[in-house]
Amino acid sequence: MVIMKVFTAEHRKHQLESIRTPEYRKKMSGIVKTRCQDAEYCKRMGEAIKIGLNKPEVVNRRSKSLKKYYSNPTNRKRMSDICKQVEHTTEWNNNVSESLKGRIFTEEHRRNIGKTHCGEKNYGWLGGVSFLPYSHKFTKHLKESVKARDDYHCRICGTEDKLYVHHIDYDKLNTAPINLISLCLSCHMKTNFNRNCWKEYLFYKNLNSNRMII
Ligand SMILES: [Zn+2]
Repeated sequence: MVIMKVFTAEHRKHQLESIRTPEYRKKMSGIVKTRCQDAEYCKRMGEAIKIGLNKPEVVNRRSKSLKKYYSNPTNRKRMSDICKQVEHTTEWNNNVSESLKGRIFTEEHRRNIGKTHCGEKNYGWLGGVSFLPYSHKFTKHLKESVKARDDYHCRICGTEDKLYVHHIDYDKLNTAPINLISLCLSCHMKTNFNRNCWKEYLFYKNLNSNRMII
């Protein structure tokens, strides 16, 4: 026989108050810090959390509570301000990507992500430059020449898989060889974030290359 313990509202309130005290938080923080030094424990917890988060009922519950949270404009503004303060370094992006690996998104969730990332809401919108046409000089021949100059390798990771010719300054009309570089699909996607850093890094790469003439 399963006995369900029913907590009264007063009991729950008392419990909440007891965990909100600074002493309790300090004590818990100490315990968590000690545990987190144990790599084996962290790995085990990471796996357990991943399994727990992927349970359909948990996904549903989280989705509902997030919907409720973000329907409040004050909450949306607060999260937006926090996100603006976060420096999206390559390491940060990689960590996010790692933590999202294996997560199951429902069909509805995927559709909603699509809606919130389209058009002007997209981080790569930048006034709609992606809809601007490429220069007529950006021909198949020019792209092939750039790839040949780069030895048919991605200039960031070195792979030979599916190469694209990237405009380093993000200006589709600038077809000067120094502004063009071969990148694989994965690295090309990465250049959508931290644009200024990539611009500097890739220009520097081309400037120091002894194969600039095409
Ligand atoms: Zn690459």
